[in-house]
Amino acid sequence: MKSSKWWKPWSSAPDAAGGSGRPNLGERADFKLLRFFNSASLIAFVVVALMLGFVFRTLSINGLLQGYESEHVNHAQIIANEMWDDAFGPLLLAMAGRPVAELRTAVPIPSIHKKVLMLLKGTTIFKIKVYDLQGVTVFSTELAQIGEDKSKNSGVIAGLQGRSSSELVHRDQFSAFEGEVQDRDLVETYVPRLDPSNGKIVGVFEIYGDSTAVLADIGKRQWTMVISVVSLLSLLYLALSMIVKTAQNLIFQQNQARKNAQQSLVLSEERWKFALEGAGDGVWDRNLQNSEVVFSKRYREIYGFSEQDLMADKHEWSERVHPDDRAQVEAVRDAYFAGLIPVYANERRMQCKDGSWKWILSRGMVVSHDAHGRPLRMIGTHTDITQRHQREEALQLASTVILTMDEGVTVTNADNEIISVNPAFTSITGYSVTEVMGKNPRLLASGTHPPAFYAEMWNKLNSVGYWHGEIRNRNKNGQLYVEWLSIKQVLNEKGVATHHVAVFSDISDRKASEERLHHLAHFDVLTGLPNRALFSDRLHQTLAKARRDKTRVALMFIDLDKFKPVNDLLGHHVGDLLLNAVAQRLSECVQRESDTVGRLGGDEFVVMLSEIGTVQDAIRVADKIVFALAQTFEIGPHKHIIQISSSVGVAIYPEHGDDENRLLKSADAAMYQAKEGGRNRAELAQGD
Ligand code: GH3
Ligand code: MG
Repeated sequence: MKSSKWWKPWSSAPDAAGGSGRPNLGERADFKLLRFFNSASLIAFVVVALMLGFVFRTLSINGLLQGYESEHVNHAQIIANEMWDDAFGPLLLAMAGRPVAELRTAVPIPSIHKKVLMLLKGTTIFKIKVYDLQGVTVFSTELAQIGEDKSKNSGVIAGLQGRSSSELVHRDQFSAFEGEVQDRDLVETYVPRLDPSNGKIVGVFEIYGDSTAVLADIGKRQWTMVISVVSLLSLLYLALSMIVKTAQNLIFQQNQARKNAQQSLVLSEERWKFALEGAGDGVWDRNLQNSEVVFSKRYREIYGFSEQDLMADKHEWSERVHPDDRAQVEAVRDAYFAGLIPVYANERRMQCKDGSWKWILSRGMVVSHDAHGRPLRMIGTHTDITQRHQREEALQLASTVILTMDEGVTVTNADNEIISVNPAFTSITGYSVTEVMGKNPRLLASGTHPPAFYAEMWNKLNSVGYWHGEIRNRNKNGQLYVEWLSIKQVLNEKGVATHHVAVFSDISDRKASEERLHHLAHFDVLTGLPNRALFSDRLHQTLAKARRDKTRVALMFIDLDKFKPVNDLLGHHVGDLLLNAVAQRLSECVQRESDTVGRLGGDEFVVMLSEIGTVQDAIRVADKIVFALAQTFEIGPHKHIIQISSSVGVAIYPEHGDDENRLLKSADAAMYQAKEGGRNRAELAQGD
């Protein structure tokens, strides 16, 4: 499926799964933690290093230096004590008030110098100087400096004021006992010298010590300290870094698991939306906060909209609901939000882009709520049920037709049990629905059809799928009725008959009137005997059979003698009654089923005898007729005694004609012969 924006949750909408829908948060946390640690730890470590350096400097190095310097002051004091009383004290006294130029040549200088060298031999003290109260150098191990004015020197000034002072200096070149020394760190120490008797300052004593080794040692310690601090901090950094890295891995794993869960959630959401789309349903995804709606591709297809056409706007959306359906849609929606129904579902008409309407089944559910339980997001589907609606309408129509039609309808299942009948069924058969439900339709059988009739019906049904024809059934009251029945098989998709639908109409009345018409057309109204048409037809068939069987047929043409006067004397009505009585007597003269008596009209009758043996047999029957009709008749309520006679012409097939017309003519001619022969007799035709 193309990744389109419709299925993505709104970025502004809080997620249903309690925050799992915010993938970016996790990623930000993963990477910022390490960067934050890197930056913060760097700054912290620099600050710590600076502070440690400062502390080290102030507490340790400075302390060492101060200790070293105060130790040097003590050395100066010790040397001064040692040398003062015997050497420098007398020298100062001796030289007090003497010109400076004499100092260098003063007598005690060489012995003092010697003594000093002895004293300082093997020490790190390079030089000793002594100043008087004017700041003039009265002694120096470097003899050339004796007599120099150092009253401006800060160490000398401090010494003259009673304070000891010490200072570290670096000298690229320096004059020591041993001569010139290079590149040395020196400590210059000035100590005031007091008169023990009165405590007054008598001069300033200065020594120069070599502090190169000490300072080198201090520098070495300084580096050792720096390296130790840096090493410790680095170890600390590494330890912290490992802790942070472990923490970061844990966070990463947690985020990964969350992301996987998120991904599978998105995937499952994609899958079910894909399934819905595949099933033909359009999906809508609505933000209930701002009424924004996202529609799926299939949704837009249903209505003929493109992505640009269909704006995600609630107003536009509800506008497309058919005005007649809006109230119902709103009622269902309100009931859903009120918690009265578990799922939002309703059927309504929706307008397509081209203005046409479609029946739509809309279903949906709220999928996320805020902390107060208010609905935030709702997802649902639109299913095009237009065809189903049309089918339902058609079914409804068909059902109405079946309910109101005059024809009875019976539906049976595969076991030929009745599963449905319509009201016309009840009115025709007299059976109610409950009386026939589950029964076999044979309960209507009249018993007037042979089993072969039903076998033939089923044969046709099973072979061609339908049967129609007339059938006599019996209603609930036991009365026979004739129905026109059409039965059709209903096949399932595999071609197996699952139902039979029978439609029938009661045609008893029609059958009766048809039979009346048939009777009128074929029988004489007065006597009920076959008329000319039917008689001719039967004669035709009998002759055909006789032709095949090579048998004889006798045809008799009978005309009553002097019938007209009966009419004239007794009335037409009595004439009719007499004609009826004649018909009766004629019928009594022929016994066999296959023999036929008919009336051609007026006082003319015909008799056909099939399969006669000989001509004589026919003549015997003709004579019998003549005799029978010559007997008196008692006619009508007034019992008129009437006596008439008849003239009979006899023609034999095949002797007197090989078809009905010729045979009739022959018989007619023979009858005239009988008339002419004096009536009341039978005459055989004269040949073909
Ligand atoms: P014939 O001996 O020569 O046969 O003389 P007939 O009087 O019998 O005369 P014909 O056979 O020629 O005429 C038959 C008469 O039968 C004529 C008519 O008045 C009468 N007739 C014909 N049809 C009917 C009928 O339906 N009812 C009655 N009552 N009379 C009929
Ligand atoms: Mg007649």
